[in-house]
Amino acid sequence: MTGAAQGKMSGLHKMQVSERRALVAAELGIEAAELDRALEAGGLEVQTADKQIENVIGTYALPLSVAVHLVINGEPRIAPMVVEEPSVVAAASAACKLVAKGGGFQAETDEPVMISQVQLYDVPDTAAAKKAIEAQREDILRQADAAMPTLLPFGGGARGLEVRELGGAMMVVHLLIDCRDAMGANIVNTVAEKVGPRISSIAGGKLGLRILSNLADHRRVRVRCRVPVEALTTRERDGAEVAELVEQASRFAEADPYRAATHNKGIMNGIDPVVIATGNDWRAVEAGAHAWAARRGRYEPIAIWRRSGDQHEAALLGSIELPMALGIVGGTLGNHRGARMALRIARIRSSMDLAMVAASVGLASNLAALKALATEGIQRGHMSLHARSVAMSVGAMGDEVERVAAEIGRTGAVNPEAASEVLRRLRGEP
Ligand code: NAD
Repeated sequence: MTGAAQGKMSGLHKMQVSERRALVAAELGIEAAELDRALEAGGLEVQTADKQIENVIGTYALPLSVAVHLVINGEPRIAPMVVEEPSVVAAASAACKLVAKGGGFQAETDEPVMISQVQLYDVPDTAAAKKAIEAQREDILRQADAAMPTLLPFGGGARGLEVRELGGAMMVVHLLIDCRDAMGANIVNTVAEKVGPRISSIAGGKLGLRILSNLADHRRVRVRCRVPVEALTTRERDGAEVAELVEQASRFAEADPYRAATHNKGIMNGIDPVVIATGNDWRAVEAGAHAWAARRGRYEPIAIWRRSGDQHEAALLGSIELPMALGIVGGTLGNHRGARMALRIARIRSSMDLAMVAASVGLASNLAALKALATEGIQRGHMSLHARSVAMSVGAMGDEVERVAAEIGRTGAVNPEAASEVLRRLRGEP
Protein backbone atom coordinates (compact mmCIF):
# COMPACT_ATOMS: atom_id res chain seq x y z
CA MET A 1 0.00 0.00 0.00
CA THR A 2 1.26 3.46 -0.79
CA GLY A 3 1.72 6.13 1.89
CA ALA A 4 -1.09 8.16 0.31
CA ALA A 5 -3.45 5.18 0.44
CA GLN A 6 -2.48 4.63 4.08
CA GLY A 7 -3.48 8.27 4.70
CA LYS A 8 -6.88 7.77 3.05
CA MET A 9 -7.44 4.73 5.27
CA SER A 10 -7.49 7.09 8.26
CA GLY A 11 -10.98 8.19 7.35
CA LEU A 12 -12.30 4.68 6.84
CA HIS A 13 -14.45 4.63 9.98
CA LYS A 14 -16.43 7.63 8.75
CA MET A 15 -17.31 6.08 5.37
CA GLN A 16 -20.27 4.07 4.14
CA VAL A 17 -19.65 0.35 3.53
CA SER A 18 -19.75 0.92 -0.25
CA GLU A 19 -17.13 3.68 -0.02
CA ARG A 20 -14.85 1.47 2.05
CA ARG A 21 -15.20 -1.33 -0.48
CA ALA A 22 -14.35 1.05 -3.31
CA LEU A 23 -11.24 2.23 -1.49
CA VAL A 24 -10.05 -1.30 -0.68
CA ALA A 25 -10.74 -2.44 -4.27
CA ALA A 26 -8.80 0.54 -5.65
CA GLU A 27 -5.95 -0.25 -3.32
CA LEU A 28 -5.89 -3.90 -4.44
CA GLY A 29 -6.12 -2.87 -8.08
CA ILE A 30 -9.28 -4.88 -8.70
CA GLU A 31 -12.76 -3.97 -9.94
CA ALA A 32 -15.14 -3.04 -7.13
CA ALA A 33 -17.59 -5.51 -8.72
CA GLU A 34 -15.08 -8.32 -8.17
CA LEU A 35 -14.86 -7.48 -4.48
CA ASP A 36 -18.68 -7.31 -4.31
CA ARG A 37 -18.96 -10.75 -5.94
CA ALA A 38 -16.42 -12.27 -3.56
CA LEU A 39 -18.32 -11.02 -0.52
CA GLU A 40 -21.81 -11.86 -1.79
CA ALA A 41 -23.66 -14.29 0.51
CA GLY A 42 -20.82 -13.86 3.00
CA GLY A 43 -18.49 -15.52 0.48
CA LEU A 44 -20.13 -18.93 0.90
CA GLU A 45 -23.28 -20.27 -0.77
CA VAL A 46 -25.44 -22.64 1.21
CA GLN A 47 -25.05 -25.27 -1.53
CA THR A 48 -21.27 -25.19 -1.02
CA ALA A 49 -21.62 -25.16 2.75
CA ASP A 50 -23.83 -28.25 2.46
CA LYS A 51 -20.93 -30.14 0.84
CA GLN A 52 -18.44 -28.83 3.39
CA ILE A 53 -19.85 -30.13 6.69
CA GLU A 54 -22.76 -32.30 7.80
CA ASN A 55 -26.42 -31.49 8.51
CA VAL A 56 -26.20 -27.94 7.15
CA ILE A 57 -29.35 -25.83 7.50
CA GLY A 58 -27.85 -22.49 6.45
CA THR A 59 -24.84 -20.23 6.71
CA TYR A 60 -24.07 -17.84 9.56
CA ALA A 61 -22.85 -14.30 9.02
CA LEU A 62 -20.30 -12.23 10.95
CA PRO A 63 -18.92 -8.77 10.14
CA LEU A 64 -15.86 -8.69 7.84
CA SER A 65 -13.80 -5.61 8.59
CA VAL A 66 -10.30 -4.30 7.91
CA ALA A 67 -7.66 -3.08 10.34
CA VAL A 68 -5.51 -0.29 8.96
CA HIS A 69 -2.22 1.52 9.73
CA LEU A 70 -0.52 -1.86 9.92
CA VAL A 71 3.14 -1.78 8.86
CA ILE A 72 5.13 -5.03 8.92
CA ASN A 73 8.83 -5.15 8.06
CA GLY A 74 8.47 -1.74 6.44
CA GLU A 75 5.49 -2.70 4.29
CA PRO A 76 2.01 -1.20 4.84
CA ARG A 77 -0.68 -3.91 4.96
CA ILE A 78 -4.44 -4.15 5.44
CA ALA A 79 -5.59 -6.88 7.83
CA PRO A 80 -8.97 -8.54 7.16
CA MET A 81 -10.79 -9.31 10.42
CA VAL A 82 -13.95 -11.32 11.04
CA VAL A 83 -15.25 -10.68 14.54
CA GLU A 84 -18.53 -10.00 16.33
CA GLU A 85 -17.15 -7.83 19.13
CA PRO A 86 -17.33 -4.02 18.87
CA SER A 87 -14.12 -2.00 19.35
CA VAL A 88 -11.70 -4.84 18.45
CA VAL A 89 -10.97 -3.50 14.95
CA ALA A 90 -10.88 0.16 16.03
CA ALA A 91 -8.52 -0.68 18.89
CA ALA A 92 -6.20 -2.74 16.69
CA SER A 93 -6.07 -0.01 14.04
CA ALA A 94 -5.36 2.69 16.64
CA ALA A 95 -2.53 0.64 18.14
CA CYS A 96 -1.09 -0.09 14.65
CA LYS A 97 -0.98 3.68 14.13
CA LEU A 98 1.06 4.12 17.34
CA VAL A 99 3.41 1.31 16.34
CA ALA A 100 3.82 2.82 12.85
CA LYS A 101 5.26 5.93 14.57
CA GLY A 102 8.13 3.72 15.72
CA GLY A 103 8.65 2.16 12.29
CA GLY A 104 6.01 -0.59 12.47
CA PHE A 105 6.26 -4.25 13.44
CA GLN A 106 9.39 -6.34 12.91
CA ALA A 107 8.28 -9.91 12.24
CA GLU A 108 9.92 -13.26 11.50
CA THR A 109 8.87 -16.91 11.48
CA ASP A 110 10.28 -20.38 11.66
CA GLU A 111 9.91 -22.65 8.65
CA PRO A 112 6.35 -24.07 8.47
CA VAL A 113 7.21 -27.34 10.23
CA MET A 114 4.44 -29.33 11.92
CA ILE A 115 4.74 -32.19 14.40
CA SER A 116 3.20 -35.55 13.53
CA GLN A 117 2.86 -37.67 16.68
CA VAL A 118 3.02 -41.46 16.75
CA GLN A 119 2.15 -42.88 20.18
CA LEU A 120 3.59 -46.21 21.33
CA TYR A 121 2.59 -48.00 24.53
CA ASP A 122 3.47 -51.26 26.30
CA VAL A 123 7.00 -50.83 24.96
CA PRO A 124 9.15 -53.41 26.83
CA ASP A 125 12.32 -51.25 26.83
CA THR A 126 11.73 -47.61 25.83
CA ALA A 127 15.45 -46.66 26.01
CA ALA A 128 16.37 -49.46 23.60
CA ALA A 129 13.40 -48.61 21.37
CA LYS A 130 14.50 -44.96 21.24
CA LYS A 131 17.98 -45.99 20.06
CA ALA A 132 16.56 -48.41 17.49
CA ILE A 133 14.18 -45.76 16.06
CA GLU A 134 16.93 -43.13 15.91
CA ALA A 135 19.19 -45.60 14.12
CA GLN A 136 16.55 -45.94 11.37
CA ARG A 137 15.90 -42.20 11.17
CA GLU A 138 16.78 -41.79 7.49
CA ASP A 139 14.66 -44.74 6.38
CA ILE A 140 11.68 -43.54 8.41
CA LEU A 141 11.96 -40.03 6.95
CA ARG A 142 12.16 -41.49 3.44
CA GLN A 143 8.99 -43.46 4.11
CA ALA A 144 7.33 -40.30 5.45
CA ASP A 145 8.23 -38.40 2.26
CA ALA A 146 6.77 -41.23 0.18
CA ALA A 147 3.49 -40.82 2.11
CA MET A 148 3.00 -37.23 0.93
CA PRO A 149 3.80 -37.11 -2.79
CA THR A 150 1.50 -34.10 -3.33
CA LEU A 151 3.46 -31.94 -0.87
CA LEU A 152 6.97 -32.62 -2.19
CA PRO A 153 6.61 -30.61 -5.44
CA PHE A 154 5.88 -27.54 -3.32
CA GLY A 155 9.14 -27.90 -1.40
CA GLY A 156 7.71 -29.54 1.71
CA GLY A 157 8.63 -32.88 3.24
CA ALA A 158 9.99 -34.70 6.27
CA ARG A 159 12.67 -32.71 8.07
CA GLY A 160 13.41 -34.54 11.29
CA LEU A 161 12.48 -37.06 13.94
CA GLU A 162 12.36 -36.76 17.72
CA VAL A 163 11.76 -39.60 20.19
CA ARG A 164 10.36 -38.82 23.64
CA GLU A 165 9.96 -41.28 26.49
CA LEU A 166 6.80 -40.45 28.46
CA GLY A 167 7.22 -42.93 31.31
CA GLY A 168 5.21 -46.05 32.12
CA ALA A 169 6.32 -47.94 28.96
CA MET A 170 4.87 -45.17 26.81
CA MET A 171 6.76 -43.14 24.23
CA VAL A 172 6.02 -40.87 21.29
CA VAL A 173 7.82 -40.30 18.01
CA HIS A 174 7.58 -36.85 16.45
CA LEU A 175 7.95 -36.66 12.69
CA LEU A 176 8.76 -33.07 11.72
CA ILE A 177 7.03 -32.19 8.47
CA ASP A 178 7.53 -28.99 6.49
CA CYS A 179 4.01 -28.21 5.19
CA ARG A 180 4.97 -25.08 3.22
CA ASP A 181 1.78 -23.08 2.50
CA ALA A 182 -0.66 -25.62 3.94
CA MET A 183 -1.79 -25.66 7.58
CA GLY A 184 -0.86 -29.31 7.31
CA ALA A 185 -3.19 -31.21 9.66
CA ASN A 186 -4.40 -33.63 7.00
CA ILE A 187 -0.94 -34.07 5.50
CA VAL A 188 0.65 -34.73 8.87
CA ASN A 189 -2.11 -37.11 9.98
CA THR A 190 -1.69 -39.11 6.76
CA VAL A 191 2.05 -39.40 7.36
CA ALA A 192 1.57 -40.55 10.95
CA GLU A 193 -0.91 -43.24 9.86
CA LYS A 194 1.37 -44.49 7.05
CA VAL A 195 4.61 -44.54 9.04
CA GLY A 196 3.14 -45.58 12.43
CA PRO A 197 3.14 -49.39 11.90
CA ARG A 198 6.80 -49.36 10.86
CA ILE A 199 7.77 -47.33 13.95
CA SER A 200 5.87 -49.63 16.29
CA SER A 201 7.47 -52.71 14.79
CA ILE A 202 10.92 -51.18 15.41
CA ALA A 203 9.98 -50.23 18.99
CA GLY A 204 8.36 -53.54 19.76
CA GLY A 205 5.36 -51.90 21.48
CA LYS A 206 1.71 -51.31 20.63
CA LEU A 207 0.73 -48.56 18.22
CA GLY A 208 -1.50 -45.84 19.70
CA LEU A 209 -2.65 -42.48 18.28
CA ARG A 210 -1.28 -41.07 15.04
CA ILE A 211 -2.10 -37.39 14.68
CA LEU A 212 -0.59 -33.91 14.55
CA SER A 213 0.23 -31.89 17.66
CA ASN A 214 -1.44 -28.50 17.88
CA LEU A 215 1.49 -27.37 20.02
CA ALA A 216 3.23 -26.53 16.74
CA ASP A 217 6.33 -25.17 18.46
CA HIS A 218 8.59 -25.71 15.46
CA ARG A 219 6.36 -23.26 13.56
CA ARG A 220 6.56 -20.15 15.70
CA VAL A 221 6.15 -16.53 14.76
CA ARG A 222 7.90 -13.66 16.53
CA VAL A 223 6.95 -9.99 16.29
CA ARG A 224 8.53 -6.97 17.98
CA CYS A 225 7.63 -3.30 18.01
CA ARG A 226 8.95 -0.08 19.45
CA VAL A 227 6.56 2.76 20.28
CA PRO A 228 8.16 6.15 21.00
CA VAL A 229 6.87 7.36 24.39
CA GLU A 230 5.62 10.68 22.92
CA ALA A 231 3.17 8.68 20.80
CA LEU A 232 1.62 7.31 23.99
CA THR A 233 0.73 10.70 25.45
CA THR A 234 -2.98 11.04 26.29
CA ARG A 235 -5.06 14.04 27.38
CA GLU A 236 -4.49 13.16 31.02
CA ARG A 237 -1.04 11.54 31.03
CA ASP A 238 2.36 11.98 29.49
CA GLY A 239 3.77 9.19 27.35
CA ALA A 240 6.44 8.10 29.85
CA GLU A 241 3.75 7.48 32.48
CA VAL A 242 1.61 5.50 30.01
CA ALA A 243 4.67 3.40 29.07
CA GLU A 244 5.26 2.64 32.74
CA LEU A 245 1.59 1.69 33.25
CA VAL A 246 1.72 -0.67 30.25
CA GLU A 247 4.93 -2.26 31.55
CA GLN A 248 3.32 -2.77 34.96
CA ALA A 249 0.27 -4.33 33.26
CA SER A 250 2.61 -6.74 31.45
CA ARG A 251 4.44 -7.60 34.70
CA PHE A 252 1.05 -8.29 36.33
CA ALA A 253 0.26 -10.87 33.60
CA GLU A 254 3.75 -12.36 33.97
CA ALA A 255 3.18 -12.81 37.72
CA ASP A 256 -0.46 -13.97 37.74
CA PRO A 257 -2.12 -16.65 35.56
CA TYR A 258 -5.56 -15.15 36.26
CA ARG A 259 -4.44 -11.93 34.61
CA ALA A 260 -2.39 -13.78 31.95
CA ALA A 261 -5.56 -15.52 30.70
CA THR A 262 -7.25 -12.16 30.09
CA HIS A 263 -4.06 -10.62 28.70
CA ASN A 264 -3.84 -13.48 26.18
CA LYS A 265 -7.56 -13.22 25.38
CA GLY A 266 -6.89 -9.62 24.35
CA ILE A 267 -4.12 -10.85 22.04
CA MET A 268 -6.42 -13.47 20.51
CA ASN A 269 -8.92 -10.63 19.90
CA GLY A 270 -6.51 -9.60 17.15
CA ILE A 271 -5.30 -13.01 16.00
CA ASP A 272 -8.56 -14.99 15.75
CA PRO A 273 -10.37 -12.50 13.47
CA VAL A 274 -7.50 -12.66 10.94
CA VAL A 275 -7.39 -16.47 11.22
CA ILE A 276 -11.16 -16.70 10.68
CA ALA A 277 -11.25 -14.16 7.84
CA THR A 278 -8.60 -16.13 5.95
CA GLY A 279 -10.49 -19.43 6.27
CA ASN A 280 -8.19 -21.01 8.81
CA ASP A 281 -8.75 -23.33 11.76
CA TRP A 282 -8.96 -20.97 14.75
CA ARG A 283 -9.41 -23.79 17.28
CA ALA A 284 -6.00 -25.10 16.20
CA VAL A 285 -4.39 -21.68 16.64
CA GLU A 286 -6.09 -21.17 20.02
CA ALA A 287 -4.98 -24.61 21.25
CA GLY A 288 -1.41 -23.90 20.13
CA ALA A 289 -1.32 -20.44 21.72
CA HIS A 290 -2.52 -21.59 25.13
CA ALA A 291 -0.36 -24.72 25.17
CA TRP A 292 2.63 -22.48 24.36
CA ALA A 293 1.60 -20.07 27.13
CA ALA A 294 1.74 -22.96 29.61
CA ARG A 295 4.93 -24.57 28.29
CA ARG A 296 6.97 -23.80 31.43
CA GLY A 297 4.37 -25.47 33.65
CA ARG A 298 2.60 -22.22 34.52
CA TYR A 299 0.24 -20.21 32.33
CA GLU A 300 2.07 -17.08 31.11
CA PRO A 301 1.45 -14.14 28.76
CA ILE A 302 2.50 -14.72 25.13
CA ALA A 303 3.36 -11.02 24.68
CA ILE A 304 5.30 -8.78 27.04
CA TRP A 305 6.07 -5.04 27.27
CA ARG A 306 9.06 -3.14 28.68
CA ARG A 307 10.31 0.42 28.60
CA SER A 308 13.59 0.76 26.75
CA GLY A 309 16.56 1.69 28.90
CA ASP A 310 17.66 4.28 26.37
CA GLN A 311 17.38 7.75 28.00
CA HIS A 312 17.68 9.61 24.67
CA GLU A 313 15.09 7.64 22.76
CA ALA A 314 12.54 6.62 25.35
CA ALA A 315 10.22 3.95 23.96
CA LEU A 316 7.89 1.12 24.87
CA LEU A 317 9.06 -2.23 23.50
CA GLY A 318 6.61 -5.05 22.82
CA SER A 319 7.22 -8.61 21.73
CA ILE A 320 5.08 -11.65 21.04
CA GLU A 321 5.92 -15.25 20.24
CA LEU A 322 3.59 -18.19 19.64
CA PRO A 323 3.04 -21.20 17.39
CA MET A 324 1.01 -20.31 14.30
CA ALA A 325 -0.19 -23.11 12.04
CA LEU A 326 -1.96 -21.36 9.18
CA GLY A 327 -2.56 -22.26 5.56
CA ILE A 328 -3.16 -20.31 2.40
CA VAL A 329 -3.97 -23.47 0.42
CA GLY A 330 -5.83 -26.67 1.22
CA GLY A 331 -8.32 -27.40 3.96
CA THR A 332 -11.68 -25.84 3.14
CA LEU A 333 -10.20 -22.55 1.97
CA GLY A 334 -10.88 -23.28 -1.68
CA ASN A 335 -14.65 -23.32 -0.99
CA HIS A 336 -14.83 -19.86 0.50
CA ARG A 337 -14.67 -16.88 -1.87
CA GLY A 338 -14.63 -14.49 1.07
CA ALA A 339 -11.61 -16.17 2.65
CA ARG A 340 -9.72 -16.17 -0.66
CA MET A 341 -10.51 -12.46 -1.02
CA ALA A 342 -9.33 -11.84 2.56
CA LEU A 343 -5.93 -13.32 1.60
CA ARG A 344 -5.82 -10.90 -1.33
CA ILE A 345 -6.81 -7.93 0.83
CA ALA A 346 -3.78 -8.56 3.05
CA ARG A 347 -1.59 -9.38 0.02
CA ILE A 348 -0.59 -12.66 1.65
CA ARG A 349 2.29 -14.39 -0.11
CA SER A 350 2.84 -17.49 2.04
CA SER A 351 1.67 -19.25 5.18
CA MET A 352 4.61 -17.63 6.98
CA ASP A 353 3.58 -14.20 5.76
CA LEU A 354 0.02 -14.75 7.04
CA ALA A 355 1.40 -15.83 10.43
CA MET A 356 3.31 -12.53 10.66
CA VAL A 357 0.18 -10.51 9.84
CA ALA A 358 -1.95 -12.37 12.40
CA ALA A 359 0.65 -12.09 15.17
CA SER A 360 1.24 -8.39 14.46
CA VAL A 361 -2.48 -7.66 14.80
CA GLY A 362 -2.41 -9.72 18.02
CA LEU A 363 0.40 -7.59 19.43
CA ALA A 364 -1.46 -4.42 18.36
CA SER A 365 -4.64 -5.61 20.12
CA ASN A 366 -2.63 -6.32 23.26
CA LEU A 367 -1.13 -2.81 23.22
CA ALA A 368 -4.55 -1.23 22.70
CA ALA A 369 -6.07 -3.18 25.58
CA LEU A 370 -3.20 -2.55 28.02
CA LYS A 371 -3.04 1.15 27.18
CA ALA A 372 -6.79 1.58 27.67
CA LEU A 373 -6.87 -0.53 30.84
CA ALA A 374 -3.90 1.21 32.36
CA THR A 375 -5.22 4.71 31.63
CA GLU A 376 -8.91 5.45 31.13
CA GLY A 377 -10.14 1.87 31.72
CA ILE A 378 -11.51 -0.29 28.95
CA GLN A 379 -15.18 0.52 29.34
CA ARG A 380 -15.22 4.12 28.13
CA GLY A 381 -14.17 3.36 24.57
CA HIS A 382 -15.77 -0.06 24.53
CA MET A 383 -19.18 1.04 25.79
CA SER A 384 -19.52 3.85 23.29
CA LEU A 385 -19.06 1.30 20.48
CA HIS A 386 -21.15 -1.31 22.27
CA ALA A 387 -23.94 1.28 22.47
CA ARG A 388 -24.62 0.81 18.74
CA SER A 389 -25.22 -2.92 19.20
CA VAL A 390 -27.54 -2.20 22.11
CA ALA A 391 -29.43 0.37 20.02
CA MET A 392 -29.88 -2.15 17.19
CA SER A 393 -30.93 -4.88 19.62
CA VAL A 394 -33.99 -2.81 20.64
CA GLY A 395 -34.99 -2.16 17.03
CA ALA A 396 -33.25 1.13 16.11
CA MET A 397 -32.90 1.44 12.32
CA GLY A 398 -30.87 3.69 10.00
CA ASP A 399 -30.06 7.07 11.61
CA GLU A 400 -31.78 6.03 14.82
CA VAL A 401 -28.85 3.70 15.62
CA GLU A 402 -26.31 6.52 15.96
CA ARG A 403 -28.79 8.81 17.72
CA VAL A 404 -29.82 6.23 20.31
CA ALA A 405 -26.19 5.10 20.76
CA ALA A 406 -25.00 8.66 21.27
CA GLU A 407 -27.70 9.35 23.85
CA ILE A 408 -27.20 6.21 25.95
CA GLY A 409 -23.41 6.63 25.58
CA ARG A 410 -23.69 10.20 26.90
CA THR A 411 -25.75 9.23 29.93
CA GLY A 412 -23.68 6.09 30.54
CA ALA A 413 -26.83 3.91 30.65
CA VAL A 414 -25.73 1.48 27.91
CA ASN A 415 -28.48 -1.09 28.38
CA PRO A 416 -31.57 -2.21 26.43
CA GLU A 417 -34.07 -0.57 28.80
CA ALA A 418 -32.49 2.87 28.42
CA ALA A 419 -32.08 2.36 24.66
CA SER A 420 -35.79 1.43 24.29
CA GLU A 421 -36.81 4.53 26.16
CA VAL A 422 -34.63 6.80 24.00
CA LEU A 423 -35.94 5.11 20.86
CA ARG A 424 -39.56 5.56 21.96
CA ARG A 425 -38.87 9.23 22.67
CA LEU A 426 -37.20 9.70 19.27
CA ARG A 427 -40.17 8.14 17.52
CA GLY A 428 -42.58 10.22 19.58
CA GLU A 429 -44.14 7.05 20.95
CA PRO A 430 -45.76 7.03 24.38
P1 NAD B 1 -5.02 -30.43 2.72
O1 NAD B 1 -5.32 -31.81 3.11
O2 NAD B 1 -5.94 -29.78 1.76
O3 NAD B 1 -3.54 -30.45 2.17
C1 NAD B 1 -2.94 -29.39 1.51
C2 NAD B 1 -2.60 -29.79 0.09
O4 NAD B 1 -2.44 -28.60 -0.68
C3 NAD B 1 -1.27 -30.52 -0.04
O5 NAD B 1 -1.42 -31.91 0.05
C4 NAD B 1 -0.78 -30.12 -1.42
O6 NAD B 1 -1.14 -31.08 -2.37
C5 NAD B 1 -1.60 -28.88 -1.77
N1 NAD B 1 -0.77 -27.68 -2.01
C6 NAD B 1 -0.90 -26.82 -3.06
N2 NAD B 1 0.00 -25.82 -2.98
C7 NAD B 1 0.71 -26.03 -1.86
C8 NAD B 1 1.77 -25.31 -1.23
N3 NAD B 1 2.27 -24.18 -1.76
N4 NAD B 1 2.24 -25.78 -0.05
C9 NAD B 1 1.72 -26.89 0.50
N5 NAD B 1 0.75 -27.63 -0.06
C10 NAD B 1 0.24 -27.21 -1.24
O7 NAD B 1 -4.94 -29.44 4.00
P2 NAD B 1 -4.08 -29.51 5.31
O8 NAD B 1 -3.43 -28.19 5.41
O9 NAD B 1 -3.22 -30.73 5.39
O10 NAD B 1 -5.19 -29.67 6.47
C11 NAD B 1 -5.86 -28.55 6.97
C12 NAD B 1 -7.24 -28.94 7.46
O11 NAD B 1 -7.14 -29.96 8.46
C13 NAD B 1 -7.95 -27.80 8.11
O12 NAD B 1 -9.24 -27.70 7.49
C14 NAD B 1 -8.11 -28.25 9.58
O13 NAD B 1 -9.30 -27.73 10.12
C15 NAD B 1 -8.12 -29.72 9.47
N6 NAD B 1 -7.77 -30.54 10.64
C16 NAD B 1 -7.23 -30.02 11.79
C17 NAD B 1 -6.90 -30.84 12.86
C18 NAD B 1 -6.25 -30.26 14.09
O14 NAD B 1 -5.85 -29.11 14.08
N7 NAD B 1 -6.09 -31.02 15.19
C19 NAD B 1 -7.12 -32.21 12.76
C20 NAD B 1 -7.66 -32.74 11.58
C21 NAD B 1 -7.97 -31.90 10.51
